Amino acid sequence: MKIFCPECGLRETLSPAHWRCECGGAWETEERTDFDPTLIDPADTSIWRYRQLFGLPFDTPAVRLGAGGTPLLPVALENSQVLVKPEYLSPTSSFKDRGTAVMINILFHQGVTRVADDSSGNAGASVAAFAARAGMRAEIFVPAHASPAKQAQIAVYGAEVRPIAGPRVNAKLAAQGATEQGLVYASHAYHPGFLLGQQSVAWEVWEQLGRRVPDWYVVPVGQGVHLLGVWLGFRRLRAAGLIDRLPKLVAAQARRLAPLCQAFESGQETVPEAEVTTPSVAEGLAIAQPVRGRRLLQAIRETEGACVSVEEEAILEAQRQLAHHGFYAEPTSATAVASLRAVSQIARPDDTIVVPLTGSGLKGTPALQ
Ligand SMILES: [Zn+2]
Repeated sequence: MKIFCPECGLRETLSPAHWRCECGGAWETEERTDFDPTLIDPADTSIWRYRQLFGLPFDTPAVRLGAGGTPLLPVALENSQVLVKPEYLSPTSSFKDRGTAVMINILFHQGVTRVADDSSGNAGASVAAFAARAGMRAEIFVPAHASPAKQAQIAVYGAEVRPIAGPRVNAKLAAQGATEQGLVYASHAYHPGFLLGQQSVAWEVWEQLGRRVPDWYVVPVGQGVHLLGVWLGFRRLRAAGLIDRLPKLVAAQARRLAPLCQAFESGQETVPEAEVTTPSVAEGLAIAQPVRGRRLLQAIRETEGACVSVEEEAILEAQRQLAHHGFYAEPTSATAVASLRAVSQIARPDDTIVVPLTGSGLKGTPALQ
């Protein structure tokens, strides 16, 4: 598979051990300008309906758990009529499964048998499940303070859970260290296949809206792979002439740790590392410096979107509000809903707003009293 580094422009062929560019940049699969809708398999309701469009080095995925194919449902939230996409209806109950499905299939095709990832929980569970399905061994490095429910989910799939003390970044460094002992870094932040799998959510939304583009797409951002996947997915549809514009992308962060919003508001090109103070209830967003920070800023600016940071009480209130409509999402997901108040002030009343619900409330530490 052809890959490139958006930081220095280097072009390469994907190989398991070469998990990032020499310059430190995270690989992306080569940008494509073709998208032939007749290649969508209507009989397949998972992400693999797009298997002929991903450009993978195999025709049929060997490892399947049924990722993707989530509904798009109207609901009134924060005085806005929005369309929520419950991504927690995925095999491991988070949006991560779209990316993991593609990444693990690539690694399986390459003959990889042992993988490592670092995660606050959702990506770790996803990698653990797909690794189990593929017959691979997985080691998942988690911050010691990660939600017990998420750590238990990783363990039950048979993966080795490695709790690492200290801030979130310590788990990342430990996982990268493990690659020196022969494990392959199956990183949701770095692997280009993971980002490719996330593009499927854009194509799915486009199909569900009758092959139209929404006006806004509002998503919580930690590493930001969902936002980038949506951006690249819609860009491909535009390059192929199937849509004439991109949705405005809104990144939602917790005010306690909002490195992307700070960099966006101060007009920077890259995202400096933010200082971690008190942890947020949005534990999935505990990233002091996203790996693909420059690309995230580019995505928001190119689409004339926004970055919105919200307070802890607003996140918990949004989680309650969602649940009162029947959607049990984790606080990380509710962060996007909490940002809708700000979005409604810049959107037009009849705009189409899509909000993915990225992870299940069942995975979090219960915060509702
Ligand atoms: Zn590079």
